[in-house]
Amino acid sequence: MKYTYGPVPSRRLGISLGVDLVPKKVCTYDCIYCQIGRTTLQTVERREYTPAHSILQDVKQALGDWGDNVDYIAISGSGEPTLNLKIGEIIQGIKDLTSIPLAVITNGSLLCLEEVRRELLLADLVMPSLDAVTSHIFHTVNRPHPPLEITEIIQGLADFRREYKGQIWLETLLCRGVNDVRGEIEGLKEVIRTIRPDKVQLNTVVRPSVEDYAFPLTPSKMESAKTALGDGTEIIAEFEGHGHAIPWKDLEEKVIRLIHRRPVTPDDLSKTLGVHDLEVTKILDKLTKEGKIKYRVFNQRLYYEAVKRA
Ligand code: SF4
Repeated sequence: MKYTYGPVPSRRLGISLGVDLVPKKVCTYDCIYCQIGRTTLQTVERREYTPAHSILQDVKQALGDWGDNVDYIAISGSGEPTLNLKIGEIIQGIKDLTSIPLAVITNGSLLCLEEVRRELLLADLVMPSLDAVTSHIFHTVNRPHPPLEITEIIQGLADFRREYKGQIWLETLLCRGVNDVRGEIEGLKEVIRTIRPDKVQLNTVVRPSVEDYAFPLTPSKMESAKTALGDGTEIIAEFEGHGHAIPWKDLEEKVIRLIHRRPVTPDDLSKTLGVHDLEVTKILDKLTKEGKIKYRVFNQRLYYEAVKRA
């Protein structure tokens, strides 16, 4: 299976089965805090980057393996999923396969296109991000493809709110000293009032990111930002696993696949896979010695990540 991964622990969705609609790493942005890596194809061109029928085959197989042990099917992955021209068809295909709720995690940059908004209508939950309201901070944090304008993106989000009946959880990721300045937070508050999402979820840099200068906010600064943004804003809590006992055939391979998607802590792995932490430690030690993965300390936590081949 090339286009599904996990189930992965997610601070927002519990245990989710990820579905990847674009290869690593095709995106409209090149965010300084991205945990997937640098954008290698930055574009606004919508294409069938990965074939819809192969994605649906993978999802079918993964559902067979994992059964009901997932809380959400999460369309996200290694870049911006709305760049896949067939996203509407894929959502419909997944809906035909399962009643597990489906979430789309998007940077929201293409919601200014009427066809993209229409294609997402069948999702149960759409989770767009919005990290800035002023052009210079948008360019500093998200480093968008040149034609993208923050005013049009905000308008697209507001239009989507009017047309879509499902849940919208807007995520704002704050980087210390970049988009956490008072004027930007006040601007965000105004814009959020126009967009009317069901929730605003505040996040910060919790995993190793592409730029070393993308720093997290302290808990007290996050609290201040939450207060400034007002009711309906929450700080995304650290993941707390559900303790599902998920069957697995080849644990080592699953660990590698999870680590290849994004850096994870031993605790993440233990909770996702329902495996004792001592067992996870043994596997991580073995894979590290074999040079298949490496570790890195970030923000006082130990993360394991993929070794990039030259
Ligand atoms: S939008 Fe998401 S995938 Fe794209 S660069 Fe930003 S964080 Fe990475």
